[in-house]
Amino acid sequence: MSHASSPLFDLETLRSGGKRAVAKALAAVETARGSCALVALLDEAARAARAHVLGLTGPPGVGKSTLTNALVQRARKAGQTVAVLAVDPSSRRTGGALLGDRARIQTDPEDRGIFVRSMAARDRLGGLSDDAIAAVVLLRAVYDLVIVETVGVGQSEADISLVADTVVLCIQPASGDSLQFMKAGVMELPDIIVVTKADMAEVARRAASEVAGAISLSGGSEGHSQGWKVPVIRLSATTGEGLDSFDEAVQAHLSHVEAHQIRAQRRVEQEERWVEEAIKVRFGTHGLARMRRMARPQGGPFAREAELAAELTSNQE
Ligand code: GDP
Repeated sequence: MSHASSPLFDLETLRSGGKRAVAKALAAVETARGSCALVALLDEAARAARAHVLGLTGPPGVGKSTLTNALVQRARKAGQTVAVLAVDPSSRRTGGALLGDRARIQTDPEDRGIFVRSMAARDRLGGLSDDAIAAVVLLRAVYDLVIVETVGVGQSEADISLVADTVVLCIQPASGDSLQFMKAGVMELPDIIVVTKADMAEVARRAASEVAGAISLSGGSEGHSQGWKVPVIRLSATTGEGLDSFDEAVQAHLSHVEAHQIRAQRRVEQEERWVEEAIKVRFGTHGLARMRRMARPQGGPFAREAELAAELTSNQE
């Protein structure tokens, strides 16, 4: 394979090499999965997370891209570097093409502090692929803020918790979404609920109170993070209304998960789930069951995955 002749760099080179280096590493994720150099880079990156990872999920058309755009501009104004990973159930694999020109996210190509990328979802339900998980690991080691956007049409709502430190569920005014989410048990998942398009004032207000009602009916509003009360934020990404409240809610959640060691704990659990997901994708549920009977290898999640995969391959039952 070509990675033998052009070895992947280390994390420092990735951090100093700009978008080109990041794009190269992301391409390797899609083409050189399992290579020693990539496993080493991914585990190094996993240990050196720098960004807070914000996961935005919600149905198509709810306003996620518009919100992402607004958040990117705000973060850049505040001097933060930002990466956006849009996980798209409709896009086909593009061989690692850099989709910075993705029409819905506007960025200045000269700005080194922003990186935008689309990746295909694992399935039509919008689930996160192993490659997307690896991409987040790389991006969060390089940028100050990582925004992962998934289309919430099923699995992706649960999958976003595989990588996000703060899960934001976006729902649309007057769509009846809140009731559906409650039924589906999704109310357990988010750390923050956003009701979009607040400039459509009356419907947005109604949606926000519907959601607040749904939360209290579902019995708990703590989401994933013990002791955290899930805020419901009405905002308009187009007028800017509510964006300050949203930032405050994200900051408050960040402080909460840092103060209670929740983020660190969540990341350990996420790594465990990454290994399991990767093994399940390659070896099926049978392979996963065999893996659980095997000794747990040492090392970072990507080294563990590689070792378990090698063992499963060499000892086929
Ligand atoms: P996504 O599919 O969830 O990424 O949704 P988009 O961000 O593409 O938005 C879907 C549509 O809603 C677009 O036509 C947007 O212009 C519109 N939209 C997004 N945010 C707002 C908002 O705050 N107010 C209004 N009135 N429309 C919005």
